[in-house]
Amino acid sequence: MSDEFDVVVLGGGPGGYAAALRAAQLDLSVALVEKDKLGGTCLHRGCIPTKALLHAGEVADATREADQFGIKAELVGVDMPGVNAYKDGVVAKGYRGLQGLIKAAKITVVEGEGRLTAPNAVSAAGRTLTGRHLVLATGSYSKTLPGLEVDGERVITSDQALQLDRVPASVVVLGGGIIGCEFASAWRSLGAEVTIVEALPRLLATEDEDSSKQLERAFRRRRITAKINKPFEKVEQTDGGVRVTIAGGETIEAELMLVAVGRGPVTQGLGYEEQGVTLERDWVPTDERLRTNLPNVYAIGDIVPGPQLAHRGFQHGIFVAEEIAGLNPPVIDENGIPRVTYCDPEVASVGLTEAKAKEQYGAEKVSTYTYNLGGNQKSNILKTQGFVKLVRVADGPVVGLHMVGSRVSELVGEAQLIYNWEAFPADVAQLVHMHPTQGEAIGEAHLALTGKPLHAHD
Ligand code: FAD
Repeated sequence: MSDEFDVVVLGGGPGGYAAALRAAQLDLSVALVEKDKLGGTCLHRGCIPTKALLHAGEVADATREADQFGIKAELVGVDMPGVNAYKDGVVAKGYRGLQGLIKAAKITVVEGEGRLTAPNAVSAAGRTLTGRHLVLATGSYSKTLPGLEVDGERVITSDQALQLDRVPASVVVLGGGIIGCEFASAWRSLGAEVTIVEALPRLLATEDEDSSKQLERAFRRRRITAKINKPFEKVEQTDGGVRVTIAGGETIEAELMLVAVGRGPVTQGLGYEEQGVTLERDWVPTDERLRTNLPNVYAIGDIVPGPQLAHRGFQHGIFVAEEIAGLNPPVIDENGIPRVTYCDPEVASVGLTEAKAKEQYGAEKVSTYTYNLGGNQKSNILKTQGFVKLVRVADGPVVGLHMVGSRVSELVGEAQLIYNWEAFPADVAQLVHMHPTQGEAIGEAHLALTGKPLHAHD
């Protein structure tokens, strides 16, 4: 078998496998090197299992709150092995599907730990795979803080959190970003006492400030405690679990602590630097066409600075495959990549926050409109609260959409079309939104912004 390929991809997560599939569709010969399981963090330790856990939590909440809808039900307990079996079943089905896709595409999968051994070659499983083009897609790992040791038992990362065979009675979640808020939400729904510790002044600090405030209010109602603006100081083991000390000397006791302080790029010990790939604080910087400093070597997904999201990885993978095939794909606008935190309530956005838009265009040129979901009948039926907030440039397009509420992750599809097609409010106001749906809130917000509000209460 020839070990020369048009494209050699190192890492089979969303970035790497998308690159491999698209390259194969374009009739390029492809080798895909994966040391663990195709699907990467997203399928096995990230997006999919966490969303299954959150859905199990939603079912628990719906049972607990069934009375509000006139339904008699009682939550008699959470069977964590049962929840895990459901979650693992979803992952296993996705894994089988992905393996089938890769096989059908006739991609050469090489199982083993790969290393860059030349600027155009990866060695793995005793083979040297030479590529006309290389794609680095080795993903990310859970970071910790200096001096904070993760023991995997009482101080854990999301990897171990997804394997727990019980619902902890109490948890400290260190970090109020996406992963921290999602676990806080899921555990609370499943019955845990949850305290989030966040050093920054708000939860989801990269989202619009109004979204953070709305989420903090909702979490308070759900009795999730958030200690914000409170840097972590130390964690000690106690008889029953951990004692966490935060700025100001306050201590919190809990059964365990989840460390969710961000994810670092997997780039060390893989021959990247030895072969001349420039790294910046371990990240692989690229130009807008995802080229590293080495000719014909691309980097994609979580190792490239920017939002660490699976669909960004997919888009990167498709982009480089098309670039290699000479299709000259359009550059990806990172602001146009939708962002979702799937906690309850969900937080979703695309484009610029109000603060960023003001920085970019000048405060006097930016206006906003916030449509309260209280005016949206489907949201009232669901008994969810939140909003759709639009950020627009004077006489220009909508440059940011921010949403909070149950199920708003499903609205971000339309929001991203509005942002990415640079729609003006009047363009959207003339579109008909089905009644009753939560999508109407997007239509209503644009109607209001064009001076013809229908169901808007100010
Ligand atoms: P990865 O998915 O990390 O894949 C990299 C792959 O490379 C891995 O399979 C690894 O085994 C392999 N690899 C590494 N080194 C080598 C080597 N030397 N040789 C061979 N193979 C190697 N994103 C979303 O968009 N939505 C979500 O809901 C979401 N939820 C998340 C929840 C959690 C708890 C976590 C941790 C992440 C979540 N993410 C989510 C982020 C998402 O998982 C990542 O952005 C995505 O997986 C990045 O894809 P990637 O291909 O760059 O890297």
